Amino acid sequence: MLSNASTRPPKFPTELTDPCVHCGFCLSTCASYRVLASEMDSPRGRIHALRAIEAGELGFDATVAGHFDTCLSCYACVTACPSGVRYDQLIEAIRPKLNSIGLRSIWQISLRQLLLWVLPYPRRLRTLLHLVRLYTGTLLQKVARCTGLTRLFGPEIEAMELLLPVLTASAFDDLIPTINPAIGPRRGRVSFLLGCVQRCFDPSVNIATVKVLQANGFEVVLPPDQGCCGAVSHHQGKMSLTRELASALVRSMNRIDGKLDAVIVAASGCGHTMKTYGELLQDSECFRTTVSDVHEFLTNVGLSDSFRTQLKPIAGAVAIHDACHMIHGQNIQQQLRTLLNAIPNLELREPMEAGICCGSAGIYNLVQPQEAAELGMIKAIDLSSTGASIIASANIGCTLQLRRHLQGGQAVYHPMELLAVSAGLHSLPSL
Ligand code: SF4
Ligand code: SF4
Repeated sequence: MLSNASTRPPKFPTELTDPCVHCGFCLSTCASYRVLASEMDSPRGRIHALRAIEAGELGFDATVAGHFDTCLSCYACVTACPSGVRYDQLIEAIRPKLNSIGLRSIWQISLRQLLLWVLPYPRRLRTLLHLVRLYTGTLLQKVARCTGLTRLFGPEIEAMELLLPVLTASAFDDLIPTINPAIGPRRGRVSFLLGCVQRCFDPSVNIATVKVLQANGFEVVLPPDQGCCGAVSHHQGKMSLTRELASALVRSMNRIDGKLDAVIVAASGCGHTMKTYGELLQDSECFRTTVSDVHEFLTNVGLSDSFRTQLKPIAGAVAIHDACHMIHGQNIQQQLRTLLNAIPNLELREPMEAGICCGSAGIYNLVQPQEAAELGMIKAIDLSSTGASIIASANIGCTLQLRRHLQGGQAVYHPMELLAVSAGLHSLPSL
């Protein structure tokens, strides 16, 4: 499997590979190993390869780099490792090196560049989506899907097409006002990240989250000029773009006058990246308050008594999908359950394989579509086996991936949407 040394090896942080004792406890949790069943596509195999590269026994060529590209950066291996190997730091150090010339095909380089030129910029994304809207939900789309027409354009374009949601008018405008006053006794003031993909592909999540925060006594401020947090480019190891986006977002949030209790995030991929800004920006710029996932925040402050009394039952069982950047990246798991349990009579169900990635992983399901589709199907079967009619997902990437792969007609909603519906603040199809 290991090829001969063919290129000058880049420097890797050996102190990060040293603690690995090759026990293999991480293998059963590793999503890439699960679908590729190859040691080189596991955390242990990649660590072994890095040691071989450092020892000058292996070159960092396209074949070796390809085994790093199969990693989803889901960090399940970090949670599983008994030796404390920080594989998350390791893969983050490797990602920028994977962008070196000669390690990927021209098509893969171009596709990634195109995605990074569009996705982090809501204006560009919306311009493109105006064209896409003429196609989604139409007879043409149905025919294209039934006949497999999109397959002709290759697996990456086919994956993109299959992930497209039906676009509503609210996808094209940020309808939430800049200032959203607290309802009832005021408990504080927060800012909120709209997210670039979330505001376009699932705007209902942002609307519901702001309503839930308001109804719990928080004024919510949304700087209208806020852009992308940099999570997508961070995941791709494009560090200068990530710093540029992070820095712009910090400036945008810090321009808000007056005291803020937190910068609230409702997408776990974004929250995970924003919590690393101190390191990313080397503390040159930072938010003047803490970044907090909305579930983390609301559990810490507690749902208000008036909000609790508003909650009405929701019919149907709910299965929880734990996003990787939530459980492995931010150690947030119980908080979702605590909040959802506040909904009267709601029955929560747990899938068997909560720790395995769904295959979304930033743009992984667009650039590694076969592996991602296999993981999506595994996750869909696991969630379906709970018998729940609703899936709770707190990350936009996972939500789109689950909606694509679930076959049983289950609805996929954000926990904030479920809380908002239960409180009579929001409406959703089928609820
Ligand atoms: S569980 Fe940790 S120590 Fe064991 S093989 Fe995996 S990374 Fe190495
Ligand atoms: S981050 Fe996820 S996909 Fe990558 S090695 Fe670890 S468990 Fe496997």
